[in-house]
Amino acid sequence: MAVGIHEANHYLTAKKLGLQPRYGGSAIEHICETDQWVCTFGQTQVPIEEYQKLTIEQTAEFLVAGSVAERVILGFAPDETSQSDYEALIFSGRGKPSDLIWLWKKTGERMIRELQADLEAQRRLIHAGARYESEIFGIDRSVRASPIQ
Ligand SMILES: [Zn+2]
Repeated sequence: MAVGIHEANHYLTAKKLGLQPRYGGSAIEHICETDQWVCTFGQTQVPIEEYQKLTIEQTAEFLVAGSVAERVILGFAPDETSQSDYEALIFSGRGKPSDLIWLWKKTGERMIRELQADLEAQRRLIHAGARYESEIFGIDRSVRASPIQ
């Protein structure tokens, strides 16, 4: 469940930020149908040109989302799953690392408060996490039996 929740919150946050995310495979790949290049953070991909249009605050929101989901839903965030997200922000070259570390922390704390206060968002996240796991790992869950909202 940890991976599903983590990835689902990258996905949902990307959608909220107006990106067109998808779940998928390797680090950078070309999508033939839409002729787009995408970059991967964990398993959630967004088109690079869309990603580059985000403000640094939005970038932080997108990257920290996985760790936020783990903290709120699971009660802890394993370091290894969010390490690459953290490094993607700190070494993005879009600010001094010390400022970006602060931004990561501050953005995460705000998103944790918002998610903790929003039970409906938690429910959507758990649902999306379960769906992610069944899509990627082929785990058949009862989610399929319920209508997709
Ligand atoms: Zn991640």
